[in-house]
Amino acid sequence: MALIVQKYGGTSMGSTERIAQVAKRVAKWARAGHQVVVVPSAMSGETNRLLGLAKELAPGKLTPDYYRELDMLASTGEQVSVGLLSIALQAEGQPAVSYAGWQVPIRTTSAYTKARIESIDDAKVRADLNAGRVVIITGFQGIDEAGNITTLGRGGSDTSAVAVAAALKADECLIFTDVDGIYTTDPRVVPEARRMTSISFEEMLEMASLGSKVLQIRSVEFAGKYRVPVRVLSSFTPWDIDVAVEAQSGTLITFEEDEQMEHAVVSGIAFNRDEAKISVFGVPDRPGIAYQILGAVADANVEVDVIIQNVSKDGKTDFSFTVPHPDLARTMELLKDKVVPQLGAADVVGDPRICKVSIVGIGMRSHAGVAAKMFRTLSEEGINIQMISTSEIKTSVVIDEKYMELAVRALHRAFELDMPKSA
Ligand code: ADP
Ligand code: ASP
Ligand code: MG
Repeated sequence: MALIVQKYGGTSMGSTERIAQVAKRVAKWARAGHQVVVVPSAMSGETNRLLGLAKELAPGKLTPDYYRELDMLASTGEQVSVGLLSIALQAEGQPAVSYAGWQVPIRTTSAYTKARIESIDDAKVRADLNAGRVVIITGFQGIDEAGNITTLGRGGSDTSAVAVAAALKADECLIFTDVDGIYTTDPRVVPEARRMTSISFEEMLEMASLGSKVLQIRSVEFAGKYRVPVRVLSSFTPWDIDVAVEAQSGTLITFEEDEQMEHAVVSGIAFNRDEAKISVFGVPDRPGIAYQILGAVADANVEVDVIIQNVSKDGKTDFSFTVPHPDLARTMELLKDKVVPQLGAADVVGDPRICKVSIVGIGMRSHAGVAAKMFRTLSEEGINIQMISTSEIKTSVVIDEKYMELAVRALHRAFELDMPKSA
């Protein structure tokens, strides 16, 4: 008998028919003798719908108090899901009980809309499991020290599930979703993408941090910190497939590097449309300018990603960096009002139409010329590179957004990731 945490995403919970299928699948695992905790997301589209309602009523400047209410609102999507799933399980004859995050409780920081989990009390959950019940816990939400409801950021149910699995020392955390595993790149963009049977934790961490939305990055961080075995698999297979077969399906995130395994040099391609580029032109080139520009941006709580500074000419240089899309307007305002006049820079320009495309692979450590191959591939497609950033196991480029799909497909082919064409 094993203790299994199962997470079901929005599409998997998208209708009462889908929820009934989830209930049958969960009941099957329980009947096979396993203790099961389920962490569902809101029904697909529901979180967007709720956030849209808030926008209708508050189109102007947003106060910190607004974000508290946003979490109160957004967290309700998951509460509907746990209630419905528990009802569906009971209708299957499977004893089940549902809890909101605050009832467990799942304690978080107070950073509304992007709270972090600090601790999870497992007493109640264990008692229910020992009494033969399936326990269903809301994804995405928790409670802060003062008793306010918080949410964990978009895609946060992944993190709830892995954190619950860590707290319970579960044998495995199964992330059921609308694809049958982790692919070499998003299969919706590249139909030739291949499913991997396993991926190393380090590579998955890079893929998630570089924009691959199949898992929220914090869920991967949790898995690493607490060594939680995580498997991504499909909730769209027939619900009654054999438990032993299902338990081996999808993609497993592995921690041990298999010495025998021939590593592909590049194992995956990630992309991200959620950043914008800011360039400050004609900056006097003297010590401290990077700090003057980026220090002010950091003080405004804006996360900066890729940074470049050009070679200076006549004592002046240009400085560019990327920020999250939603922070572009705010950062531009800050730079125009305060930083540019203070620095005596010539101009500042924001470009929201960029994207970042990255190649990821542990094999890059031991192979030279991988980045060069990436640049050559992009040049053959006539794609101009605006910025470059590298680390040991990834190379990222910032390019015009309109070339994103072309770049991802060309790189996928060039690094021989395409599925072999059947004869
Ligand atoms: P859920 O609602 O189950 O959380 P998400 O939409 O958050 O599902 O994540 C699953 C989606 O992630 C897939 O439908 C797929 O389009 C996308 N995706 C992006 N990159 C990858 C990848 N490398 N492998 C598999 N899926 C990916
Ligand atoms: N419902 C939340 C969202 O849409 C959390 C999740 O689905 O993981 O972001
Ligand atoms: Mg998701």
